[in-house]
Amino acid sequence: MSIVGYLLKEIERIKGNLLPSYGWMPSEPSSPRWWGGFETEEEIAIAAVLVQLTTWNNVDRTVASLRREGLTELSRLMEYDIDRLAEKIRGVGFAVEKARRIVKLAEISKGDLDGLCSSQDARERLLGVRGIGRETADTILLFACNRLVFPASRLGVRVLSRVGVEVHGGYEVWRRTIEEGLPPSLYDYKLMHAGLVTIAKVYCKRSKPRCRDCPLSRLCAYARRASRSRA
Ligand code: SF4
Repeated sequence: MSIVGYLLKEIERIKGNLLPSYGWMPSEPSSPRWWGGFETEEEIAIAAVLVQLTTWNNVDRTVASLRREGLTELSRLMEYDIDRLAEKIRGVGFAVEKARRIVKLAEISKGDLDGLCSSQDARERLLGVRGIGRETADTILLFACNRLVFPASRLGVRVLSRVGVEVHGGYEVWRRTIEEGLPPSLYDYKLMHAGLVTIAKVYCKRSKPRCRDCPLSRLCAYARRASRSRA
């Protein structure tokens, strides 16, 4: 079995104990519930914009409040007043910029996320929204559009490279390398992303990783080296 295969197996084993505390709800492959139990794909797309540079709790609260006002439907957000929306999402920081991105997202989808998701150039259209970068676009493609695209986050790449997966180059090379190592399964793509991001935040910190507590330590090259150098 490849190292990515072992990783997937390990993340599958620990998912119930670790992931829900950090906002991930492993579910049916195409369910929107992966993201904190959200109810629709449009909520995920909006949350993917809101989550930039803020905490999950802020996003969760803000999406719930938008939902109560019926503002998690892109069709209602087209041409919505940016300042008004910014006021409603101010808890997530950078509210005006994020409001502008959400309204633009609604506009490029013409209020129809399914239509955007199924278009050939969905990724390019998402990247055309100022402030939506590759990781956010790929997160929307995977979790809201249910397309086999892996968001190659820096957090995930840090875990993979420490464990021993050769990940070189920049974002697009990382993404292709990870996609080539994964089975073509929506469930596995989502589980891998959720698992890597969570492990990076909880254990695999940039400096001083907590290898002794990390569930991946048995198969991690970095942890083995660290343990040898302590011996
Ligand atoms: S064992 Fe250590 S280096 Fe390896 S993934 Fe876990 S925290 Fe990171």
